[in-house]
Amino acid sequence: MNKLECPNCNHSEIIEKMNYRKDSKIYMAKLFLVQKENPDLVVNTFMCFACNHLTNFAGNVDGTIEYFETYKYDKDVKFDNYHDIHGERNQFDSIKRMIIDINFDNNLDHFIKRLDKL
Ligand SMILES: [Zn+2]
Repeated sequence: MNKLECPNCNHSEIIEKMNYRKDSKIYMAKLFLVQKENPDLVVNTFMCFACNHLTNFAGNVDGTIEYFETYKYDKDVKFDNYHDIHGERNQFDSIKRMIIDINFDNNLDHFIKRLDKL
């Protein structure tokens, strides 16, 4: 797994330093989502700023990527297949808060600007 591809618009990014490249349109975060059926699976979430959709995904041991839910940032979605409150709803607020919270050295200004436009 060295590339992520948005299932909605097919925009792709190389994962290495993806969150910090100024021209990157995908921000990836660990939001600690736990699937009820597969609690050991490490599910991450990314936001594609090319189309403003979020996607939950997991990397398989064979290097492939499994994509799960994809939804628009302002859509009210409910994930009954995940444990706890973090997995029950649209994760846009979580990912937005995370980007703002960890931007203490302004390395994420390129994403803050994109967030401000929404
Ligand atoms: Zn996209």
